[in-house]
Amino acid sequence: MREIFESILGKENVLENEPMCNHTTFKVGGCVDWFLMPESEEQLSGLLKVIKQENMPLFILGNGSNLLVGDKGIRGAVVCLCKKMDRIQVEGDEIYAESGAVLSRVSNAALAAGLSGIEFASGIPGSIGGAVFMNAGAYEHELKEAVSFVRYMDTSGEVFELSCAECEFGYRSSVFSKNNFIILGCRLKLKKDNKDAIKARIADYTSRRVSKQPLDKPSAGSTFKRPVGYFAGGLIEQSQLKGYSIGGAQVSEKHAGFIINTGNATAKDVLDLIEHVQKVVFEKFGVRLEPEVKLVGEF
Ligand SMILES: Cc1cc2nc3c(=O)[nH]c(=O)nc-3n(C[C@H](O)[C@H](O)[C@H](O)COP(=O)(O)OP(=O)(O)OC[C@H]3O[C@@H](n4cnc5c(N)ncnc54)[C@H](O)[C@@H]3O)c2cc1C
Repeated sequence: MREIFESILGKENVLENEPMCNHTTFKVGGCVDWFLMPESEEQLSGLLKVIKQENMPLFILGNGSNLLVGDKGIRGAVVCLCKKMDRIQVEGDEIYAESGAVLSRVSNAALAAGLSGIEFASGIPGSIGGAVFMNAGAYEHELKEAVSFVRYMDTSGEVFELSCAECEFGYRSSVFSKNNFIILGCRLKLKKDNKDAIKARIADYTSRRVSKQPLDKPSAGSTFKRPVGYFAGGLIEQSQLKGYSIGGAQVSEKHAGFIINTGNATAKDVLDLIEHVQKVVFEKFGVRLEPEVKLVGEF
């Protein structure tokens, strides 16, 4: 397989037995068989054709900030769009960002151009592709508010575009998450605004994050989705689970909605802790917490 992958991507973009703990913000996860970094839509399309022909399992990786990868790793191919497909283009009051562009860069580009509408996402440590896939959100805003259209590829390598209305955005979901479409890029429709005002909003969101979230420890952000009518963090805190740990995984003392890696957590520790929290919260409140974090690979 190495020769075929290298003929499409070049030697430097093909890694074998690559530890996924190096590519996830949780800093856990075993090796993937093939870690592949296309630089263009053409390369990605060629790659997908081979992967399909070989019947190889495929996982698309953004910035790895919403993932729990199993200790036994991932069989098949991880295609990482964050390393090389990350160009950003500002055109008038719109920005086209390739899927691998991280949100902090997109938000900085918007600030530099005096464009408002994406400030809420500046502190989300994901890529724009991952954010579209998840319809990421914070502080009463969601990515869908800024999306004009999304360019995507299906697993046979064909390219399509969808308007925002066609993206079927829901709470942490989209047409892409329902169909495993591969997001290539996204056009954001923003509004002209005063740069100082944009900067002040980013600073406000940043200080709220720094004061409430355990940003000094590896995690994947909020572990659970917000259950209707409740806050996951509140339910976990009221279940006296703040600080509860299994192995190296701990319910953050600072924000009960986050599970953190205190240094040497395995994916199994994190998974066991997720299940423990779900059990305790269900017994106490009758509410079933559903992970927001995506579980990937073999545990
Ligand atoms: C400290 C911290 C704070 C966070 N705060 C927030 C927050 O405020 N709001 C919020 O919504 N999330 C938050 N998150 C979670 C996470 O950053 C978001 O879910 C983000 O959108 C994930 O993007 P990613 O590029 O890291 O995706 P990944 O974690 O790499 O992948 C997530 C999912 O998206 C898919 N995916 C990624 N890129 C593509 C693509 N190009 N095409 C198709 N599928 C793709 C993957 O296959 C996977 O299923 C936080 C995480 C951390 C660690």
